[in-house]
Amino acid sequence: MSKHKHKKTEAFDFNGGWDYSPSPESTGHVKLKERYDLYIDGEFVAPNSGKYFQTTNPATEKVLAEVAHADESDVDKAVKAARKAYENVWSKLSAKERGKYIYRIARLMQEKARELAVVETLDAGKTIRESRDVDVPLACNHFFYYAGWADKLEYAFPNRNVSALGVTGQIIPWNFPLLMAAWKIAPALAAGNTVVLKPAETTPLTAMLLAEIIHESGLPAGVVNILTGYGDTGAAIVNHPDINKIAFTGSTNVGKIIQKAVAGTGKKLTLELGGKSANIIFEDAPIDQAVEGIVNGIFFNQGHVCCAGSRLFVQESVADEVIQKLKDRLDTLYVGDPLDKNTDIGAINSKEQLETIRKYIKIGKDEGASMYESSCELPKKGYFVRPTLFTDVAQSSRIAQEEIFGPVLTIQTFRTIDEVIQKANNSPYGLAAGVWTDKGSRIFNMTSKLRAGVIWANTYNKFDPTSPFGGYKESGFGREGGLQGLGAYLKIER
Ligand code: NAP
Ligand code: MG
Repeated sequence: MSKHKHKKTEAFDFNGGWDYSPSPESTGHVKLKERYDLYIDGEFVAPNSGKYFQTTNPATEKVLAEVAHADESDVDKAVKAARKAYENVWSKLSAKERGKYIYRIARLMQEKARELAVVETLDAGKTIRESRDVDVPLACNHFFYYAGWADKLEYAFPNRNVSALGVTGQIIPWNFPLLMAAWKIAPALAAGNTVVLKPAETTPLTAMLLAEIIHESGLPAGVVNILTGYGDTGAAIVNHPDINKIAFTGSTNVGKIIQKAVAGTGKKLTLELGGKSANIIFEDAPIDQAVEGIVNGIFFNQGHVCCAGSRLFVQESVADEVIQKLKDRLDTLYVGDPLDKNTDIGAINSKEQLETIRKYIKIGKDEGASMYESSCELPKKGYFVRPTLFTDVAQSSRIAQEEIFGPVLTIQTFRTIDEVIQKANNSPYGLAAGVWTDKGSRIFNMTSKLRAGVIWANTYNKFDPTSPFGGYKESGFGREGGLQGLGAYLKIER
């Protein structure tokens, strides 16, 4: 395949005379509608304004479908439906019955896993391997996991009185569209709440497929309402007076606006925001494994990962070796058609995000850092960027301080443990970190000193519904996943 020709490397020539044949996932079984309406009170209804907007495939720039733009009056209708469903139906059902519905949603999602994965890849640009093997199975697992808690809340929080909050408003980003919807809806329902959810404007389709699945599951009308729209739709949810809790995942800037809007209203709030996580390689680490961990840490999902290991710290004695191996590995990464099962790095989610990434690459060069990018050819159409790394990066560089949210890695070196802890913690964010070392005691030392919500040891980007996820500082507050994620949707009293 000529578009995947790579430069020969000194260390190992992966491309000497062989290459992968294209292996595209079929889209024949997916039938997208031309237009998707809002899901309110158990029905698919047109928006009051009559306005729709287009969602495109970032890999081809082709329009996939039109979705409704919900305004304040649609949000009000959805909140009223959610309140009515909470008071009259959902809070009156036994917890066991509620759990059954959540199981049913999980099973239906599994049955439609292939369709969900393909639509996620089409709408978001992420590779089919990730949608198929990570996003969709994890999303199902969140429903399965929380379904199990629905009738065991008193065991989850022993010696406490727990009760649902009421109506929850949930706003999610575009990097893991279906998975973020599952992270939000599953614990909210298990805790006995009803939901009004808004997906991101560039990735609304799997949320609408989920609405169809929820409809098919027979969940009582109004328990889950899904409204597509722009930032103003999100703001209308945040500002609606009859919502008891806001759960937001997205940028730190919008998180700050929401925190101000919610202050003093009595609404419960959780914010999952941005990150600039440190991935730290000690000299005694298994280097080849660590290089794979670095690649997974920053290039997984095109780097559109809030907890991406975007700041690499390598101990000086192994820096040359690690950086050389990393450059060699960069050249073997397949960038291109997200539907091709060989592809490692798919399309950047939107034109705007591509511009942001390009802006940061220019900033990095202007700041005097040394750039290295893979030599792969990029597709002519669609939004793509080569995997890129920067060395000679200063701690104060903007590319080392600000979230880029793309396949761009900064590399710094260190000599001592104290130095790397100080550098890693010198960030406004505190979402995640990775530590690579052979020494168990060093791992425990690091985990107690790094200010990050999640710390991986000798691995990176591992997720599980039983494990809480969330940040410190400007990465937000509150946890999703595990018991902590359930508690975030409950009033817990003595
Ligand atoms: P974003 O611009 O903050 O958008 C997130 C969601 O909020 C979207 O649905 C967006 O709608 C909506 N929104 C925009 N303005 C709003 C407002 N004033 N009031 C209420 N809602 C509003 O973030 P993004 O660019 O989609 O996502 C990337 C960010 O999410 C990154 O910073 C990433 O680190 C973070 N993230 C964090 C986690 C975590 O768990 N910590 C997980 C994933 C992503 P539109 O789509 O219409 O703009
Ligand atoms: Mg799209």
